[in-house]
Amino acid sequence: MASYRELLQQTKAEVEEVDAREAQELDGAVWVDVRRHDEWDEGYIPGAIHIPRGSLESRIESRVPDRTAPVVLYCATGERSAFAAKSLAELGYERPVSLAGGFVDWKRNGREITLPRSLSPERRARYSRHILIPEIGEEGQLKLLDSRILLLGAGGLGSPAALYLAAAGVGHIGIVDADIVDESNLQRQIAHSLNTLGSPKVDSAKRTIEALNPDVEVTTYRERLTSENIDAILDDGWEIIVDGADNFPTRYLLNDASVWRGIPIVHGSIYRFEGQVTVFDPHAGPCYRCLFPEPPPVELAPSCSEGGVLGVLPGIVGTLQTNEALKLALGIGDPLVGRLLLFDALATEFHEVHVNRNPNCPVCGENPTITEYVDYVEFCAR
Ligand SMILES: [Zn+2]
Repeated sequence: MASYRELLQQTKAEVEEVDAREAQELDGAVWVDVRRHDEWDEGYIPGAIHIPRGSLESRIESRVPDRTAPVVLYCATGERSAFAAKSLAELGYERPVSLAGGFVDWKRNGREITLPRSLSPERRARYSRHILIPEIGEEGQLKLLDSRILLLGAGGLGSPAALYLAAAGVGHIGIVDADIVDESNLQRQIAHSLNTLGSPKVDSAKRTIEALNPDVEVTTYRERLTSENIDAILDDGWEIIVDGADNFPTRYLLNDASVWRGIPIVHGSIYRFEGQVTVFDPHAGPCYRCLFPEPPPVELAPSCSEGGVLGVLPGIVGTLQTNEALKLALGIGDPLVGRLLLFDALATEFHEVHVNRNPNCPVCGENPTITEYVDYVEFCAR
């Protein structure tokens, strides 16, 4: 039987050990800290992910799915990480390496460390059902609290999105809407109520959000999105846009701006009993213009105010959009990029249509012909 020292020596002989400089030169390496939670809480190497040694084998595949990338494992002194590197090699990782001297040497040599942020006890309680999910956890919740999501419209689609994004703890929500709350809105626009009839929708939605979650900072834009104000609004650093617009000029305007700025749009639209959801992630998938090069003739594109809509439908479509927005913010799951999801409320049926990028798209194609804002009202009236 081998003693611990002998086993360690034997393991170290089998795995690749690197010093800090060599580790930093490994292209595309993923850094994994295998220490205990209390050690991690005292600081870690910037960019590292934390998988305690005890759960390494069970969690590495979901956190580091690419087995070809080098994995730099470290612990306090380089012992636990040597065993960890051996395990990863057995799991088929091509180049697991153990950081010699571990975090102790790293810190002693004056290299940079990150002190982890953590949630306050109040936030841990509020978001406990997120924290319990391994794909989210405390780290994911902190990501949500840092994220910035813009809602275009505080109407049927924007209402459920505002409520669920706020409840989820998305730390910064922007709302663009010029309208005021009208009685006919209350059949579906659940962010508003009798208490806010006659108020601007952005103020009404802000009140609802603030009553639900004080962690959320709400920025309101009581204006219609136009080519004159869109840059000023997007300059506020919005990372994801939930599109609840109800007209074509706004959709094309938003699309063009998002392609130029590389901001993903979670698109939704509704009519009577039918809804559509997709994600336009610039250059990763098609854009709105790839899908709809031309707007439909005006008579074929009635809005809710003209054609009507089942009250719960925007609730369903808006929550599907919110699901996509949260996934994008967390960087988990498969977003609806290149997939148009169609919902039929009467049949209760979902269909998915695959949509490709159009290489000749005038905005996101190889040789774009539209490179600045056009007159969108005129474009859609043709
Ligand atoms: Zn396109």
